[in-house]
Amino acid sequence: MWEELRAAVQSIMLNDEEDQILRSYSSMGKYSVHLYVVMVLVFILAVWKLNIPPRVQFFLWLISNNRVLTRDNLVKRREVTDATCLFCSEKESISHLFFDCCVAMHVWKFISLCWIEVLVLILNRLPPCG
Ligand SMILES: [Zn+2]
Repeated sequence: MWEELRAAVQSIMLNDEEDQILRSYSSMGKYSVHLYVVMVLVFILAVWKLNIPPRVQFFLWLISNNRVLTRDNLVKRREVTDATCLFCSEKESISHLFFDCCVAMHVWKFISLCWIEVLVLILNRLPPCG
């Protein structure tokens, strides 16, 4: 598995083009309900088996069950009347807050750039295989 990860990271070609969010989870590049259900089940099972702090497991469970107190959920509970995102004025949902919001996109872009740099540093310090 390590070699596969190493090969995958080394195959990444960075360029100056704008990043895109791709949501193709099947080999056909299409998203199906069946695939979604399988992914959710695998995710739920995997979350509880991860060696991470219980509070992180619980938060991931909240996300997967749409129980995070985002503004759309607070409106349903009648705790706020305005469901718009405080960053960009779009409707705030879990998907919006973590992926679609302009602020989230900047955060993910920053994290991905840092993560790639860390992986490259690690890979450059590894002894050659074989
Ligand atoms: Zn937003």
